Amino acid sequence: APASAAVHAREELGRSTWTMLHMLAAQYPEQPTKQQQKDVKTLMELMTRIYPCKMCADHFKEVLKAHPVQADSGFELAQWMCQVHNVVNRSLNKPLFPCQRVDARWGALNCDEDACSLEDRSIK
Ligand code: FAD
Repeated sequence: APASAAVHAREELGRSTWTMLHMLAAQYPEQPTKQQQKDVKTLMELMTRIYPCKMCADHFKEVLKAHPVQADSGFELAQWMCQVHNVVNRSLNKPLFPCQRVDARWGALNCDEDACSLEDRSIK
């Protein structure tokens, strides 16, 4: 049925997006530049406008209002991401994730050397 195909698409999109967001947070530097902090805030704001599930985007806008982005360090961003994901989980009656385990779940990326690291990237 079209309804269940739409639900499937929304769930797949959600899983992929959370994967990207948690992995991004796990690789975010402990001492981010001003630009990196700004970029994260912009990314989250854009999610409230062009995330391709309008219902999710509208809901996320409210979540962001109640839980402003915390991106002063890698630890802060990973914990904040976990908290806002838990707000969404709660609204969908999904189990809450223990945020002390966020690094075990999302921290490991198999990249050569520091190919995944943001630390030395020259974004100006
Ligand atoms: P997901 O919630 O997609 O999580 C994927 C994996 O992340 C889990 O298997 C688990 O290992 C891990 N995980 C779970 N919770 C956490 C956490 N707190 N911290 C770290 N890791 C965690 N769907 C709707 O129906 N309505 C909405 O309003 C809605 N809003 C959304 C807003 C955003 C910004 C996003 C990205 C998604 C939204 N979704 C919404 C989709 C929804 O959150 C799920 O992605 C989707 O239902 C699939 O759920 P899932 O059970 O596969 O696990």
